[in-house]
Amino acid sequence: MEIFGHPDFDGHEQVVFGSDTAAGLRAIIAIHNTHRGPAMGGCRVFPYAGEAAALRDVLRLSRGMTYKSALAELPVGGGKAVVMANPGRDKTPALLAALGRLIDSLGGRYVTAEDSGTTVADLRTVAQETPHVTGIRERRGLDGGIASGDPSPATAYGVFLGLQVAVAHRLGRGLEGLTVSVQGLGAVGWRLAEQLRAAGARLQVSDIDGERVARAVRELDARPVAPEDIATEPADVLAPCALGGVLNASTVAALRVAVVAGAANNQLDSPAEDEALRRRGILYAPDYAINAGGIIDVAFEHLGDYDAASVRRHIERIPRTLDIIFRRADAEGLPTGTVADRLAEERFRAGAR
Ligand code: NAD
Repeated sequence: MEIFGHPDFDGHEQVVFGSDTAAGLRAIIAIHNTHRGPAMGGCRVFPYAGEAAALRDVLRLSRGMTYKSALAELPVGGGKAVVMANPGRDKTPALLAALGRLIDSLGGRYVTAEDSGTTVADLRTVAQETPHVTGIRERRGLDGGIASGDPSPATAYGVFLGLQVAVAHRLGRGLEGLTVSVQGLGAVGWRLAEQLRAAGARLQVSDIDGERVARAVRELDARPVAPEDIATEPADVLAPCALGGVLNASTVAALRVAVVAGAANNQLDSPAEDEALRRRGILYAPDYAINAGGIIDVAFEHLGDYDAASVRRHIERIPRTLDIIFRRADAEGLPTGTVADRLAEERFRAGAR
């Protein structure tokens, strides 16, 4: 298996394969870039089909973290860890401790956090072996309540602000009376829907969990839409807050909105959709630009100066970054996702100021 010649290698600074036979640990930690600060990114536990699949995933995810944190102007770089294991069966305290020792051996060049397959409780076990863990402390979160590292309120607030600036840019108006389709009423989507409603938007919602939809109808005066129809329902804005890959060739052709702005990661099925959206005149708020509230939240926790007001102020830079992206995309005739990547590259090559 090629590492330096891997199609997703992309200048990674360090790729570490770690194992602890007694504990059953097989992990890969990828450090993409540390120009702005220590590489930060979650730890995924997943029963990968093999090493090639795990390597591909960790390289792509760590690179993505460099871009996200640089665009969000955080003094951290990008990294990620993957553990080849079944999260429901294999996550023993011994495995998590071995993972903690592996992370500790990197001396703080990589800082881990929650991702799919890991919980705050797991990370607290990891943290018994290393201080290089974030998103685990009890603290007063963005919405005033005691948060145990849950970044969802911060993510939802950033998406709300980003959606607002996208609407102002494309439609020249505010949220009052605007129709927004919210796909997915989970930790982020629900909070986003509440803020949109409070700002006077009309909501159309879908979720595969009927209870959540019923609650939105009751409490937010939302109109329910079937999950298979929400992406193509006529509206001013589509806010994808469920799954990745929602913007594929067929949905982009069928969209009946002016703006796409939501929390989901990896919304574009392929780079071709970035250009297809531009050609259709639909303004796409690049996912990793608009959903950076969560990484801002956990990065502040790690940097040790967490206070909700500073986190809020930093999240309020998200619409400014989006505004730069939108204006540059217009001026250069480029799709917004491409412009976001270029701006992120400028920011991580320059390092943190
Ligand atoms: P969540 O699991 O709490 O919510 C997802 C919701 O989507 C659930 O209610 C689920 O039932 C629903 N759903 C699943 N499939 C659906 C479908 N086909 N149609 C409609 N609804 C469907 O997740 P979350 O934390 O709210 O995150 C939402 C998205 O935002 C994810 O893509 C996540 O990766 C991304 N994101 C989250 C954060 C964060 O801070 N939580 C940060 C950055 C990005």
